[in-house]
This record gives sequence, C-alpha cells and structure tokens, in this order.
Amino acid sequence: MKLKDVWKKKEVTLSFEAFPPKKDSDFASVASAVEKIAQLKPDFMSVTYGAGGGTSAYTGKIAQIVQAQGVTALAHLTCVSSDRDRIHHELDALRQAGIENILALRGDYPEGYDPSAPRDYRYARDLVEEIRAYGGFSIGGACYPEGHVECPSQREDLRHLKEKVDCGVDFLVTQMFFDNGVLYSFLYRILARNIELPVIAGVMPVTNGRQIARICRLSGTSLPARFRMIVDKFGGNPAAMKQAGIAYATEQIIDLIANGVRGIHVYTMNKPDVAASIAAN
Ligand code: FAD
Repeated sequence: MKLKDVWKKKEVTLSFEAFPPKKDSDFASVASAVEKIAQLKPDFMSVTYGAGGGTSAYTGKIAQIVQAQGVTALAHLTCVSSDRDRIHHELDALRQAGIENILALRGDYPEGYDPSAPRDYRYARDLVEEIRAYGGFSIGGACYPEGHVECPSQREDLRHLKEKVDCGVDFLVTQMFFDNGVLYSFLYRILARNIELPVIAGVMPVTNGRQIARICRLSGTSLPARFRMIVDKFGGNPAAMKQAGIAYATEQIIDLIANGVRGIHVYTMNKPDVAASIAAN
C-alpha cells in the first residue's frame, strides 16, 4: 500500500524502524527480530539504508521480510554516495520486490568526502525529483525539528525543507526529539510556510544511557533536564534504564497523540521487546 493513502484513512499511525545487518552472519538474527516486530502489526515499518552500521545491500531484503508479514514497508534510500545508474538499479530492485514507499535521503557524508565535487545528487531534493520522475512510489522525506546539524540556521533549514517538499514529498518523518514542545514549535513554523503534509514524529525509547549523549551530540538533538535526570539516575542499571526509557517514550507518545500528531514512528533499534512494550502501552 502507498503510505500517502494511509493518512487519508487513519487518524493516527504507529510504525517502527528497523535497520539491516552489517554482515551476512548477522542476517538471520536481524531477520528474526524484524519478523517479531512486524508480527505486532504496526501500520508500517521502515528499513534504514546504510545507517546504524547496516549495509545498503540488505535494505530491500529486510523490507521484503516486513511485507511477507503483511506489513507495509518503507525502504530508506540515500543518494550522497550514488550516481544515477546505481539509484535506477535500486529503484528497479525495489519495484520488483513490491516495495511502494521510499524515504528519500541525502545521507551523511562519508569520511574524506568532498561535497563540492561534481555529482549526480547533492541534496535529498535531487533524489526526490529522480524518484518522482521514475514513478510508482510514495515518497517520504526527513525533517529536523531542531534544525539539521549542518545548517547555520533553522530558518534556512526550513527554506530547504519547503523546496524538498515541493519536489514531490508525500509525508515527512522527523529526527528524534525528547521535548514535545520542540515538535509543536516546528509544526507551527512549517505550517506558516504552507507545508501541510503528514508529519510523522520520530520517538526513540532510550534503553542505553551511555549511547544517548553521543547520539544527541551528532544529531543536534537536545536533551531536556528532566530526561538527563533519568539517564543520570538509571543509566548505570540497564534493566531500570530500559523501563524508564519506555515509560518516557510512552508519555511522549500519549501527549503527541493528544495534540493531534498524525503518526508515531518508533526507533526500536531492532528490539522486539521494546516495540512490544510501546505497542501495548
Ligand atoms: P537534505 O534534505 O538534503 O538536507 C541536508 C542538509 O542540506 C540540510 O542542512 C539542509 O538544510 C541542506 N540543504 C538542503 N537543500 C539545500 C540547498 N539547496 N542549498 C544549500 N543547502 C541545502 N542516513 C542514512 O545514511 N541512512 C538512513 O537510512 C537514514 N535514515 C534517516 C531517517 C530519518 C527519519 C532521519 C531524520 C535521518 C536519517 N538519516 C539516514 C540521516 C540523514 O541521511 C542525515 O541527517 C543527512 O545528513 C541529511 O539527510 P537529508 O535527507 O535530511 O538531507
């Protein structure tokens, strides 16, 4: 099913993110975790592309495992290290696999990358245009309630977001955030720029206190004092941190739904028990 049609029928969606394995020997365990998450019957599941240590080669295969469970897959695709031939090859493969939804991303620059060198794609908007011209996919884009780390101002980032949306994006998925006020302010500001498509809120249940400070530094996500207190208190106790992280994410989600957010996308880090707790809550 094309995701652009889902929000015409459903008021709120719940979806999960999965990431592919790094190597062949991890494939079976990742496939099994993804199957368990899909059995919770979320409205859709996204599968990252080369992010989180996974490799791009497995994205389509994991997306097929999702769809085999009767769940719509959203395949991520990045363009920063690709040329037109490779992107067309990926689009052909996704179409053949029955995948109808793509999250079109630029991707992070690899080490030693020269952004000023001539390339087929510079920004995600170039990929959106390419997929739109290819046809047959519903297209999502990423957005950053606190601004993208590379962009000097949120105002400029919003201008670029509007350009990307106008290239043919059907829905947006946000970077994680831990303060709902940040998202509400962002939604207000994009509305003022006539961006009116569904914005799906990315929520991360933090289960590992040590990793989160580094992840937030890299992604430009701020940690509210209330959340820092929780990590300080429970970060050294994995079981307690997991419970606290799920409780915090649940509270966030209840507030988001109460305030009219159209979709909740949970960064489950391939953990079926975390996905199950969130779905049950
Ligand atoms: P863009 O929309 O191209 O924006 C990148 C930067 O360029 C921004 O600072 C923007 O303001 C600026 N910009 C855009 N247009 C212009 C212009 N015309 N002139 C000047 N500046 C401009 N990464 C992966 O590798 N694999 C994944 O699977 C993955 N999944 C993700 C899922 C989500 C929901 C999110 C939020 C991020 C994900 N990422 C993933 C990370 C993403 O690739 C990085 O954040 C990357 O740095 C930016 O990608 P983008 O698609 O947002 O880029």
